[in-house]
Amino acid sequence: MFQIEAVKSSVQRLIIVGNWKMNKLLAEARQLVSRLRELTPAVPGVQVVLAPPFTAIHAVKEALAGSDYFNLAGQDLYWEGYGPFTGEISAPMLRDSGCSHVIIGHSERRQHFGEDDQGINKKVRAALQHELSPILCVGETLPEREAGQTDTVVTRQLLRGLDGLNEAEVGRIMVAYEPVWAIGTGRAATVEQAEAVQGRLRRILRETWSRAPGEPTTPILYGGSVTPVNAGELLNSKHVDGALVGGACLDPEAFAKIIQSAQTCVRAS
Ligand code: PEP
Repeated sequence: MFQIEAVKSSVQRLIIVGNWKMNKLLAEARQLVSRLRELTPAVPGVQVVLAPPFTAIHAVKEALAGSDYFNLAGQDLYWEGYGPFTGEISAPMLRDSGCSHVIIGHSERRQHFGEDDQGINKKVRAALQHELSPILCVGETLPEREAGQTDTVVTRQLLRGLDGLNEAEVGRIMVAYEPVWAIGTGRAATVEQAEAVQGRLRRILRETWSRAPGEPTTPILYGGSVTPVNAGELLNSKHVDGALVGGACLDPEAFAKIIQSAQTCVRAS
């Protein structure tokens, strides 16, 4: 099972996560994974995580049989383990289905399903309690950026999302900086914009949860209109430890190219 290790500044590890969102029927899911496997050699130093919809997790797990290069993630969870919560999926269920990771606090969940930082914090804790690595998403909307509130918003989301966690727990999570205005718009953040926010998130993490030398630190991914064209530049930048990919991960050719960009970055380092 994939263990989160130190960020690329120390071991050059890059993480590429594909968020399928509400896409792919079973036959399509199997086809996508089979093609992706054909196109993607396992290269040390790059970890790949697939987040299919709940209905396809089992089929994807079967299609991944015999490969330990690809990890599985849920796209969300509910913080209770079991019980009368119709429609929800819990951390033990995701573990039982073969997931090692879970996306939490995606902006689409905040926007369309009213998720707030308090609930997101409960989800992060539930994931950690059940040995799932949370991928905590933070990011500002366009009006927030234009009002100069980016730092305030992402700092609040980060600190509230991780409230009450100890150093070891923070070493088991990933953060994804996903500016809301860049998601699904074809307008990715520039390297400078991503670096500025991700450097800040890195500083806050370091100042709030000190790590002993050699201990794992928290990878910070960038998400928002990552494509085969811009992946190399983004992944090469100092504070970007990987990518959370939406639209482009639905096309195996495009997603494989993004993974190859990460592999090239790691090989060149
Ligand atoms: C996402 O939904 O997390 C995402 C980054 O989407 P896209 O790559 O399509 O912008």
